[in-house]
Amino acid sequence: MTTGKINVSVENIFPLIKKFLYSDHEIFLRELVSNATDATLKLKHLTSIGEAKVDYGNPKIEVKIDKEGKKLHIIDQGLGMTAEEVEKYINQVAFSGAEEFLEKYKDSAKDSGIIGHFGLGFYSAFMVAEKVEIITKSFKDEPAAHWTCDGSPEFTLEPHTKTDRGTEIVLHIADDSLEFLEEYKINQLLTKYNKFMPVPIKFGTRKEKIEQKKGEFVEAEDKDNIFTEVEVDNIINNPNPAWTKAPTELNDEDYKNFYRELYPMQFDEPLFNIHLNVDYPFNLTGILYFPKLGDNIQIQKDKIQLFQNQVYVTDNVEGIVPEFLMMLKGVVDSPDIPLNVSRSYLQADGNVKKISNYITRKVSDKLKSLFNENREDFEKKWNDIKIVLEYGMLSEPKFYEKAGDFVLYPTTDGKYYTLTELKEAIAPTQTDTNGKTVVLYASNNEAQHSYIDIATAKGYQVILLDSPIVSHLIQKLEADNENLVFARVDADHIDKLIQKEETQISKLSEEEKEKLKGSIETVVPKENYSVQLEALESTSAPFMITQPEFMRRMKEMSATSGGG
Ligand code: ADP
Ligand code: MG
Repeated sequence: MTTGKINVSVENIFPLIKKFLYSDHEIFLRELVSNATDATLKLKHLTSIGEAKVDYGNPKIEVKIDKEGKKLHIIDQGLGMTAEEVEKYINQVAFSGAEEFLEKYKDSAKDSGIIGHFGLGFYSAFMVAEKVEIITKSFKDEPAAHWTCDGSPEFTLEPHTKTDRGTEIVLHIADDSLEFLEEYKINQLLTKYNKFMPVPIKFGTRKEKIEQKKGEFVEAEDKDNIFTEVEVDNIINNPNPAWTKAPTELNDEDYKNFYRELYPMQFDEPLFNIHLNVDYPFNLTGILYFPKLGDNIQIQKDKIQLFQNQVYVTDNVEGIVPEFLMMLKGVVDSPDIPLNVSRSYLQADGNVKKISNYITRKVSDKLKSLFNENREDFEKKWNDIKIVLEYGMLSEPKFYEKAGDFVLYPTTDGKYYTLTELKEAIAPTQTDTNGKTVVLYASNNEAQHSYIDIATAKGYQVILLDSPIVSHLIQKLEADNENLVFARVDADHIDKLIQKEETQISKLSEEEKEKLKGSIETVVPKENYSVQLEALESTSAPFMITQPEFMRRMKEMSATSGGG
């Protein structure tokens, strides 16, 4: 047997990286801004532990387009690199300085928010650039370095005159990637990927009106404040998005504002939010919003955005967020989701399953507390959230277990029962010959209103189950509640119900009924109408005269033929 080392030559690997590293070329910018952010956060960490004795200040990252020069610049004020470090971190493909940093400062830096992972991000620059320069000055007292590479394995490294701390990456944009010199394009990418990154990112400037209050001494007529226009940095990100804060720091308005920040083009208000916040056994933060769904039951799989350390990754959260919650909106941020793997692997990953279960639990806890704290309000929201909850009961066993605490069954006349309450309310009066409790339900309040009226007149409760997945839900509820059957209000179930308790619904005795019926039938023709005297306590009418469908038709037919 022989063992050996596979020799990967850089000549071979470079074109591969260039072509296949990421299918999406546009993510080069995300990677470079991530590196700039890492460099800044590393410096922040080193100054905080006293290892870098420099002034951290208020560093920002700048992205600049030089259209004539066909160059894109990404400039940071982070820790910079010495020439030696450039050799080590840049020239060694697939050596992650970020990982090395985290390893070295294991205990103190684990919450520093450093993004890098695989040591490949930097090279994504070659997907859009024919030549890349790094001009960098370390916070250490060493001369600046200038690295240049045109995408071949050869590079040059020489001293540079840069004196201010930090790194400037210069991309000489290739001819097939000129779109990345367009302002709107870069703006779009920064807004998509970097909108919530932790270090301010400047992209150009914008004009801002500032108010100048005049002194108290001015005359009445020109007391109005004057506005002057000033040029300010155009900062494209919010470095402290709501989900990174503690729930106790935020009020209702803050959550609504963040919703607007996430969906600037949308004008609906969320019904409520769920703040996710866990750091053991995995790291996860985020805010989920229940949008007003109503009958709009489309599963919109692209509404929840996934972040890692405040860097946008994807809006495909399949496998991470349980399917029934994909109707929600919001953000989930977790550095612990392995995203470089296939989706099917993701679903099998134990950690990811834990994340999905945690989200389910958090959502059910929130629903339960909303229900307990203000049931009336919860009932008002029911119609807008029911589809998510009913779908959750069907698709997620862990959610089904908890659902009894807050899932509601509304009656056609506006009462809301939990399943337990419902059983209690109807067991005495709605039992079939097998001794099972019968839930009468309607799927359409209007279309079935005559049946509903008859049933309610008899004192029965009719539940309104009108979402499209109701038949599946009923099957499940019947399977899990041995003594419960569901019956459509318009099927002939009503007559078969047995009143367990001697609840006398009619105020009349049998004898009185017969007598009354007889005298009414002398007035209304028996062959066209039927007279009903029972079960009328709940209505204001003492009796009901109905015309069966076939009698009505017969009458119509005879009327048309007879009249001709
Ligand atoms: P990763 O970020 O996963 O570590 P990259 O390929 O993105 O891998 O970057 C490689 C390394 O190069 C980084 O870990 C870091 O040490 C160094 N580096 C890249 N960009 C910068 C920068 N702007 N400032 C300082 N160091 C940088
Ligand atoms: Mg990186």
